[in-house]
Amino acid sequence: MKVKLAKTAGFCMGVHRAMDLVLNEANKGEGPIYTYGPLIHNSQVIDLLKSKGVIPIEDIREIQGKKGTMVIRAHGIPPGEREILRSSGLRILDATCPRVARVQAIIRSHTRKGFTAVIVGDQDHPEVIGLQGYAEGKAHVIGRPEEVATLPETEKLLVVAQTTQDAQVYREIQKAVRARYPKAVIFDTICDATHNRQQEVKSFSGHVDCVVVVGGYHSGNTQRLVQVSEGAGLRTFHIEKAEELDRERLASMEVVGVTAGASTPNWMIKQVVQEIQGIRSRREARLGPWLRKVFKILMDSNLVVAFGGYSLSYSAEILMNRDLDFVHPGIAFLYIYAMHVLNRFLDKGASTYNDPAMACFYRRYRIPLMFSGILAILGSLAIAIRLGPSVFLIMSGLCVLGIIYSVPIVPLRRRRLFRYTKIKDIPGSKTLSESLAWATVISLVPLLEPSPPDSSKALVAFFAVFSIVYVRSALFDIFQAQGDLIVGVETLPITLGEKRTLLLLKSVTIIGGLGLLAAPLVGAVGSFSYLLLLCYGTLMMSILAYEKRWLYPGTSLEALVEGNFFLAGCLGFLWHHLA
Ligand code: SF4
Repeated sequence: MKVKLAKTAGFCMGVHRAMDLVLNEANKGEGPIYTYGPLIHNSQVIDLLKSKGVIPIEDIREIQGKKGTMVIRAHGIPPGEREILRSSGLRILDATCPRVARVQAIIRSHTRKGFTAVIVGDQDHPEVIGLQGYAEGKAHVIGRPEEVATLPETEKLLVVAQTTQDAQVYREIQKAVRARYPKAVIFDTICDATHNRQQEVKSFSGHVDCVVVVGGYHSGNTQRLVQVSEGAGLRTFHIEKAEELDRERLASMEVVGVTAGASTPNWMIKQVVQEIQGIRSRREARLGPWLRKVFKILMDSNLVVAFGGYSLSYSAEILMNRDLDFVHPGIAFLYIYAMHVLNRFLDKGASTYNDPAMACFYRRYRIPLMFSGILAILGSLAIAIRLGPSVFLIMSGLCVLGIIYSVPIVPLRRRRLFRYTKIKDIPGSKTLSESLAWATVISLVPLLEPSPPDSSKALVAFFAVFSIVYVRSALFDIFQAQGDLIVGVETLPITLGEKRTLLLLKSVTIIGGLGLLAAPLVGAVGSFSYLLLLCYGTLMMSILAYEKRWLYPGTSLEALVEGNFFLAGCLGFLWHHLA
């Protein structure tokens, strides 16, 4: 089944920020955390937050005598309630969305100047309740153009909208207000995130057979998305989780559009997309889903990344001007496979959120996967012995480091004294250690052999492998940031933030490309280096594909990123046979 995933699906900026703030706080483990009302309207996420000790409080009176941190959610709260929280002694973490805070500020400044505020929105919505508080009693809430007639006579009227209001309804209300109050001050306060999401659903019209909207049944913006989709004449299914998909009815479709409310996490969207892709459309040939399934199994089992390592090692051999054999790419394949498979079993459950299908695959094939991982280690060490005692020693050290990377190394008694008990806990260590390990196995270990490559060539190969793997590894960290944040793994995007990480990756790609461009000019390596520049071009394309939302994290984007390794191998093969 073909899926068209909306670029705007999932957490908006405000929800993203609120979740990051709360999860970062929960991962510190410094006492209880309360949220004033549920953080977002998604029962699965709320359950998950509860499992991390984040407790929603519905009534402000419940805070009496409590100690810990109180989070103000993205909707914001009235100033009176903020005052009560402040005087309660609880530490306050304000996750009010900056766009909601802007509307609050507009209302406060205008009502202080004598304006009467009109808030277009749902009377009972927490954001609207919060906004009303900033008007100090001078606010009216309306939801339909006809209600403009019920407003009082005034010279000074301010009109704002709840940030998730329907743009069309707000336009109609604005028209009615202008007709009755020509001097009214009207602000366009509907959030772009909401508007763009609704526009994108409308744009599905004529391109998909139906739309699946993923999100909480109590989430206002998800419900509105459903209404917009239905209003555009699209057959629409509203689901909260993948298990609710109507597979029978979807099988009669050919292309399914998927979008999600602002409170739907990536892992849920991904799960829904994977489920739909797995449904065989009655109009679709059998080959498509079958190929997708095979690719997914190869990805989940880490065979794709291991073959990628083989491919990269093969092209590094050419870059180092060595005689081609299967020994060096083979050792890279076995080492990378073993480390990826064995570390999956020690990842504290991040994959449960990032890729539930993969987590299930690992649970089901636990024994054979573990066994194959151990065999791969032994295989890589057996080859290393043949390459000399120094190679064997270094490879043994790298295997031990790779395993202890995810294992606590601080003794149990001392753990309370250290924030980081494993190498993996050190912020950004995953990306760095992975790229260093690949680059060492592929280009530095051969320097210890009886007939080593030229050291300048090995250094250029090290630089190339390091930069390509660094970008690949960090991109996957970005795709998996929500799950990593939940389990408290401080990967690069969690430490630096997504924007800065993407900037760093672009810089690494450009520096890597310039390095490969300069290396043949100073005689360090041959002209094959120029050909490898293509890999940096596709790396940059992968970064942009994610940043510009040309592709959503999932099979296609992961295939594009992993494809860089195979491109390197193919370029090496062509160079070897044609040059
Ligand atoms: Fe903020 Fe817009 Fe999200 Fe509301 S929808 S929380 S205003 S980003």
